[in-house]
Amino acid sequence: MRKTYDKQNIFAKILRTEIPCEKILENDYALAFKDINPLAPIHILVIPKNPYVDSYDFNENAKSKEIKYFWKLTNDVINQKNILEKGFRIITNSGIDGNQEVPHFHVHILGGKNLGRIIN
Ligand code: 5GP
Repeated sequence: MRKTYDKQNIFAKILRTEIPCEKILENDYALAFKDINPLAPIHILVIPKNPYVDSYDFNENAKSKEIKYFWKLTNDVINQKNILEKGFRIITNSGIDGNQEVPHFHVHILGGKNLGRIIN
């Protein structure tokens, strides 16, 4: 069963330019912008331009070109921010147990400091 996409979620509004964001980079299929509440010196969100609720929905339903260009943009952000050598963390949350706040698929790119361990 596919989850219903809520067109009024905040990232849908950012994509429709109804609310602003601090854009980092974009390509035809994805947009990268700063998280409004950064949890690290570098905290950037990457979202697909088409509507997907979460990573499962994206992996199931996006075209291969969309998937390729989504992950290409994450690498472009990593290069622009110069965090490849020291490292970074990519996180994506889904649903209630994942504590997903915004129901439009996104990955968090975190870096710029040692982020500690989250899985032991
Ligand atoms: P989630 O918990 O869904 O994985 O993360 C959602 C993220 O979106 C949070 O880190 C939150 O700070 C960020 N966020 C929520 N509203 C806005 C907004 O209006 N603009 C931006 N740039 N980030 C937002």
